[in-house]
Amino acid sequence: MQRVQRTGDRGRLTRMAVLGWAAAGALTLATGCVTNPITGKQQFSLLQGESGKGQLISLAREAVPQQFAADYGVANDAQANAYVSQVGRRLVATLKPSDVVFPDMPFSFQVVNAVYVNAYAFPDGTIAVTRGMLAELENEAQLAAVLGHEIAHVNCGHTASAMSKSTVYDALVSGTKGYLASKGSSWADVAGTAGQLGSAVVLASYSREQERQADQGGMMYMVRAGYDPQGMIGLMQLLVRISGANPSLLEQMFSSHPMSAERLQAAQSRAATEYAGRNAGANNQAAFLAATANIRKNKGAFKQFAAAESQLAQKQYAAAKTSAEQGLHIAPNDYVGLMLVAQANQKGGNVAAAQQAASLAARVSPSGARAHGVLAQCALQNKDYAGALQHLNAFERQVPGEARTSFYKGMAYEGQGQKQRAAQAYQSYVRHGGVNSAEGQYAAKRLQLLAPAK
Ligand SMILES: [Zn+2]
Repeated sequence: MQRVQRTGDRGRLTRMAVLGWAAAGALTLATGCVTNPITGKQQFSLLQGESGKGQLISLAREAVPQQFAADYGVANDAQANAYVSQVGRRLVATLKPSDVVFPDMPFSFQVVNAVYVNAYAFPDGTIAVTRGMLAELENEAQLAAVLGHEIAHVNCGHTASAMSKSTVYDALVSGTKGYLASKGSSWADVAGTAGQLGSAVVLASYSREQERQADQGGMMYMVRAGYDPQGMIGLMQLLVRISGANPSLLEQMFSSHPMSAERLQAAQSRAATEYAGRNAGANNQAAFLAATANIRKNKGAFKQFAAAESQLAQKQYAAAKTSAEQGLHIAPNDYVGLMLVAQANQKGGNVAAAQQAASLAARVSPSGARAHGVLAQCALQNKDYAGALQHLNAFERQVPGEARTSFYKGMAYEGQGQKQRAAQAYQSYVRHGGVNSAEGQYAAKRLQLLAPAK
């Protein structure tokens, strides 16, 4: 689909950080144009050829673990993952050399635990669909429409062209100014109120024209793969329905919001003309319903969790806890639900309850990095610096390169009286996270106190 910024928390790092880094010139950039495989027109691209492809792949390798952690990890549902992957491969198998800017991207497809309704692609072809999205779809042809749309974004080089927008860096560092600064300088306060590890998400945002191209390409691939073009119409109807039912929810999820009616019309018109009579009724509904049964049965829980997320973002911690707990009645021990209870408690000041929920979450999903993020923050609030470092290291092993880890390490080392290590960690945060974010300002201030400039 598209992307937007999620409300999880206040920071905006992860992929945007990587894109900002790229925009700042750390990559070797060629300038010029590539041919857009959908329109046949030339488009500007900073990255081209084999070296460009290699750079996109390494960029994605850094960004994917951070995005997946923010989405509460890959779903622990082998059947759903294998199924989504199989549908994705069926689409990829139809691609021709003329369909792509970069040949042979290492496409992969997975389900992430997040409950908001979305799907997204990285420039290397790593594609994810949320549990929230799967719970809304009705058949395999609709899933093929979702995956085809994302494959088309990759094939057209849209994710690569997003890197050439210099505004990405501004987006990275804006929005959090003055937050911690207004919180005073007690870092025990900061531990409880700063951004969560693994929670901030900003994916590339696509233009309307790029969304149109992805719809066109996605529909072409799905019909080639043997699916009923009605699948794309069903997907567009879902987008329109969501936008009518809860405009603010959709605003969070799809920046394509105002164009959903237009996109539906375009799909209907193609189904009635160039794809008329193709693959009628081929939607594999039974296979879809069987493979997604464990996800769809928790749809009611996902609604509660989504409500808890927006309440958390609005600092309504008690309400968020209640919503998450109601969801857990439907989906007991769900990792997302447990993490929302943990975060609501931690932000709301009940550190012991937060630790209890996050510890359970870490047991339920040992690869769920965010549990270690919350446990690290709780440990800092309890002045348990060694414990904080342990959880920060566990987080970092699963999600390398998230700048905010350095910020919290700085706090833990400072608490232990290890001034030099603390200064190094803050410095690393300022270098990678910038000084314009709230945490960045705090880190810069601590850095001055710990290691005064000569
Ligand atoms: Zn899109």
